Amino acid sequence: MHFEVTILGSNGAIPAHNRYPTSQFLNYNGQGFLLDCGEGTQLQMSKYNIKRGKLDHIFISHIHGDHFFGLMGILTSFNLNYREHPLHIHAYPGVEEIVRTYFKHAQTILRYEIIFHQVTADEPRVIYENDGLTVETIILKHRIPTTGFLFREKVGPRKILPAKLDQYQIPVHEISAIKMGGDFTTEGGSVIPNIELTHDPAPPRSYAFCTDTAYTESFIEQIRGVNVLYHEATFVHEHRARAAETGHSTTREAATIALKANVDKLIIGHFSARYEDLSQLLSECKDIFPNTELAIEGHLFSI
Ligand SMILES: [Zn+2]
Ligand SMILES: [Zn+2]
Repeated sequence: MHFEVTILGSNGAIPAHNRYPTSQFLNYNGQGFLLDCGEGTQLQMSKYNIKRGKLDHIFISHIHGDHFFGLMGILTSFNLNYREHPLHIHAYPGVEEIVRTYFKHAQTILRYEIIFHQVTADEPRVIYENDGLTVETIILKHRIPTTGFLFREKVGPRKILPAKLDQYQIPVHEISAIKMGGDFTTEGGSVIPNIELTHDPAPPRSYAFCTDTAYTESFIEQIRGVNVLYHEATFVHEHRARAAETGHSTTREAATIALKANVDKLIIGHFSARYEDLSQLLSECKDIFPNTELAIEGHLFSI
């Protein structure tokens, strides 16, 4: 089952050094989710062969332009490409107002429906769910209301041991009940306990997307033990005063969150345009949390 994230944009407010503002494409088993939609997102999707038609949900962390200036372009292209199925946008109410105002003044009536789901900044909540996963908001600490998004896979059914199917001549119609934890009764009346027929499913995987935020430990419990944490690290440690002033994090702060939350891997991004070379950002994180990687355009991370 695919659960992977492609980095489309890794930079902070200003595009620079061939880096784009924030956007990531998350593929879960063929379903597409866009996390933020900075300027240039649709060009980056084309560059990395991501099919726009697979995208049904867009999540916007907050209403700073570097996280949504690509939205109007992508919505317009959907229209020009005869999209008919609905698109869901999960965002603060201002995004709906901006989008509707634009299309009103452009006198454009879209061929497809945009369904807006309002995100709130009061407390974390599950805002989307399907058969395979849930998406929760993460309340971040920034200059305006901002939320991250936590993608959590659901626990799958138990796995049947193929040898047991033959051994006990288990009929096909019994299989789904056994996968759900049921025992099996043979024709002779013996009860075979589930534990003998199955093994545990793979542990559910999780991905936390946290941008933009100043250092805060308020969501550590929520993200504890996730497989991959994306946390912004806009500045090197030396520029911590600037980070605090602008509601962003430094490398050491991002790495400290990863360490305290006991995650498996940290990806850092939202880099300030002042850094052309990112090696200092990476090494400062690795000093605290060795399993850190840079978000680089085009990189695909398997969760
Ligand atoms: Zn930003
Ligand atoms: Zn911001």
